[in-house]
Amino acid sequence: MAEAHQRGIELFAQGQYQEAIGCFEECLRQAETSEIWNDWATAQFASGRVWEARQGLKRALQLNPQNIQAAENLRRLVALAGSPQECSGENQPKQEPQRGGKEPVCSAATPDADEELYQRAAKLRSQGEFRAAADLLEQVLDLRETSPRWREWASLQLALDDLAQAERGFRRVINLNPQDTSAMANLAVLLEYLGRYEEADSWANSCSEGVLNQQRTAVENLLQLVGRRKPIVDELLEDIRTIPSEDPSLPPAMIRAIRAMRFDSGYFVEKCLERLSKLRGRAFSRALQALEMKVETDYRLSIVLGCYYMQAEDYETALRHLRSACDQNPGDLFAEGALITCSRRQAARTGASSEFEGLEAYLAASFCETPWHHLEISWDGNTFLCCPSWLPLWVGNSRMQSLEEIWNSDFAVEIRKSILDGSFRFCSKVHCPRIAGRTLPQRTSNVPAGERTPISAFGRSSEFPTRVSGGPGKLVLAYDRTCNLACPQCRRNFHVAGRAEQESMDRDYLPLVLHAAQNAETLYLNGAGETFASKHSRHLLSLLTREQFPQLKFLLISNGQVLNERAFREFDLFGRVQSIQVSADAARQETYRIVRRGGDFQRLLSNLAFLDDLRRARGEKYRLELSFVVSSLNFRDMPEFVQLGRKFHVDSILFTIVRNWGHLSLAEFEKLNVPNPAHPEHQEFLRVLESSELSDPIVDCGSVAPYRRPAGRRDA
Ligand code: SF4
Repeated sequence: MAEAHQRGIELFAQGQYQEAIGCFEECLRQAETSEIWNDWATAQFASGRVWEARQGLKRALQLNPQNIQAAENLRRLVALAGSPQECSGENQPKQEPQRGGKEPVCSAATPDADEELYQRAAKLRSQGEFRAAADLLEQVLDLRETSPRWREWASLQLALDDLAQAERGFRRVINLNPQDTSAMANLAVLLEYLGRYEEADSWANSCSEGVLNQQRTAVENLLQLVGRRKPIVDELLEDIRTIPSEDPSLPPAMIRAIRAMRFDSGYFVEKCLERLSKLRGRAFSRALQALEMKVETDYRLSIVLGCYYMQAEDYETALRHLRSACDQNPGDLFAEGALITCSRRQAARTGASSEFEGLEAYLAASFCETPWHHLEISWDGNTFLCCPSWLPLWVGNSRMQSLEEIWNSDFAVEIRKSILDGSFRFCSKVHCPRIAGRTLPQRTSNVPAGERTPISAFGRSSEFPTRVSGGPGKLVLAYDRTCNLACPQCRRNFHVAGRAEQESMDRDYLPLVLHAAQNAETLYLNGAGETFASKHSRHLLSLLTREQFPQLKFLLISNGQVLNERAFREFDLFGRVQSIQVSADAARQETYRIVRRGGDFQRLLSNLAFLDDLRRARGEKYRLELSFVVSSLNFRDMPEFVQLGRKFHVDSILFTIVRNWGHLSLAEFEKLNVPNPAHPEHQEFLRVLESSELSDPIVDCGSVAPYRRPAGRRDA
């Protein structure tokens, strides 16, 4: 045994640790002694087997507690891992080593043993063997701990999804090197994952934004690598995608209507805010940033941000987001409502008055007869009781339902009730020119004689029934998009219905239109394109003969390019037109060229002269109107446009603000949207509005009116 022991010592001295272990084990099989266990443990240690070394040293001390060499070796060994209790023989769990401990040197360790192990661990890691690499690295740390090695170990714990151990590792790094901001950033990100936002913030505040972002990416990549966890903000965004767009408790028909017309994002916004409110600290601010980056693809996120900033009383930021949401989808009544509230709160803070002041009281005292006589058919067959840009809830579909079903549908009744109860809850408070311009009749007065006798027969508004017999008095056709122009504020390209589209319009709409026209007093065409440029609309006009529809009068809207003597003759319009609205949008040739792509300004003037002459010299009695959609392209023409109207003796001139029909990107619309206070030409726009021309009684400023009010009342 003595021989084998001696050979083992010699082999150990030569660095042949494995062979030395064999010799010591041969001795131990014969008789175990404290001394041989000490040597065996020393050889194990030199081979990198720390756990075995510990066990050997413990056995040596069990056999001989007085073995000073074994006790000293164990003390040094344990000091590497920081478990002082083990020195006294107690079997305690391992604890985190204390910072500042003496660099451990085991009497049996070779200087290169830890480096060798470290290289092996690195190799395992590069092979994706994270568990084995972490175990080996643990042994390396037992031999000699350094902050970079702890950091690697902690990163491996991340890759193994053991966040508690990873936290322990990063904390040890900081203990060893209190200047290590990368470890602080790692710890901050990790604590965010663990939902310990305040702790996370305190570590994040100790490092720069650059380091934080760099380490955030590193930590998130590791966690995503194993597919176990997602960054908290990604989780939020993913969660947001699961929120239904509409309140699931609403009746299915209402859900379909809201979804199609996107006019109420309230449910989605409320649920988003709820989720957002659960985040804290940096996770919260990161979530705000992430939402902001996605607003171009989902305008509702702008409303979420607007509502959040409104709650935080940062009204300027809130208004920026809410305006952006309304620019992207001007039909969203919830967004509009939030914008109005925010505008008022900001005005209250600055002491200014808001153009929306007293709006509810005004509406409660007002009435609108439109839903009692108006039926509008849109391009997809959906039908409305007003212009869908102002009142987006449909009442039925003319392709699938009869006129009678549509006219007194449940939604039609709801809309009429909303006027009677004074809430006007389905009406746009910004885009309806009658609300924005405050030109609605008073609820207590007799409603002015309508375009249809039964309406005026109802007398006071309170007597109006929510179900109306006899069908609509005014039929508005807005399904034929054919036009001879392609104006930038309306569409991107020219559109002329092909044969198939014409046939489908003939099939889908003609029966209902001809049926409704039997009782209607007026027919408005065309709300979506140019009547006289469309084969279908011309065909329809030819069917609506004076003989068969003697009571029917036409309300024409036209770009004026082909509304001339020939059109009047061809469609037998003399004496049958109640009003003509010419949509011109410019008073100068150079502006007209831009806003009426494909149009001829001289032809417009010539046709206006013809329409004027028909009234003044040839006894026609129709009302003649001009309309103008205000944008950055043409606002400077507004005063001259009034002069143009006077020249042709028009009865009224209507100005409305430009809106996005969904054909423009947010950036494109922002360029046009001069009513936005953030627009670079907004101040010039306000000065143009001060022109005395716009005070002419023939001018109806419609949705432009709020911008003409005194300073401080132009917030939205
Ligand atoms: S949107 Fe305006 S015009 Fe239409 S029903 Fe409402 S108040 Fe009347």
